[in-house]
Amino acid sequence: MMIILFIYGACLGSWLTAMADRYATGTSPLYPASHCEICQTPLAYWQLVPVVSYLVLRGRCHYCQQRIPPTTLVLEISCGIVLTTLTLATLRPLLWLGLWTFAALCDARTQTFPGWLVWLAWPLTVWALPWPTIILATSGLLGIQLLWRHWPTPLIGDGDLELILAYAITRGSTATAQWLLVASTLALWRARKQKRLAFLPYLVASAVGWWLIRR
Ligand SMILES: [Zn+2]
Repeated sequence: MMIILFIYGACLGSWLTAMADRYATGTSPLYPASHCEICQTPLAYWQLVPVVSYLVLRGRCHYCQQRIPPTTLVLEISCGIVLTTLTLATLRPLLWLGLWTFAALCDARTQTFPGWLVWLAWPLTVWALPWPTIILATSGLLGIQLLWRHWPTPLIGDGDLELILAYAITRGSTATAQWLLVASTLALWRARKQKRLAFLPYLVASAVGWWLIRR
């Protein structure tokens, strides 16, 4: 059962990567069929197997020899591992994590992500919370969306803050502090290389790590 879940997870990771690439290039999610982002050659079936294809191809396109980002392999394996924790009880948090993973992949490519993701993930966030908290948190979310539109040079992205809000109301202050500490350390370690940093990938990577540690 674990092996089947891992395979499903790896496929899901592969699919999320492809969809984020298409979001970044503005192409349709349905058409054309999977192809190399550089030389545009359509991929054969054996080049589409998650994890295995990357290893067989040694991380390069079969046709143009361009390097396939290693993050693709990391993501496929991570999604595989995360999905082995799937049960009826963990379905909701895993769906939530999947939506934010997609947002992070888009953010890593374009420093933006589709705004509807936040609202799709929101019911999953507030599901089991008491009504007053739901009303307060939703007002907070609307507040962030309204204010950020009028702030020309924000220090932190609205998406980052929305994820922090969602994490804080479901996990509490201690877990949130630990999660943020790991995410910030990861981001600082990479920050030297680029000036403006997409923070969402680090937040989500840290969330996945903490999920596997203490669920
Ligand atoms: Zn190619």
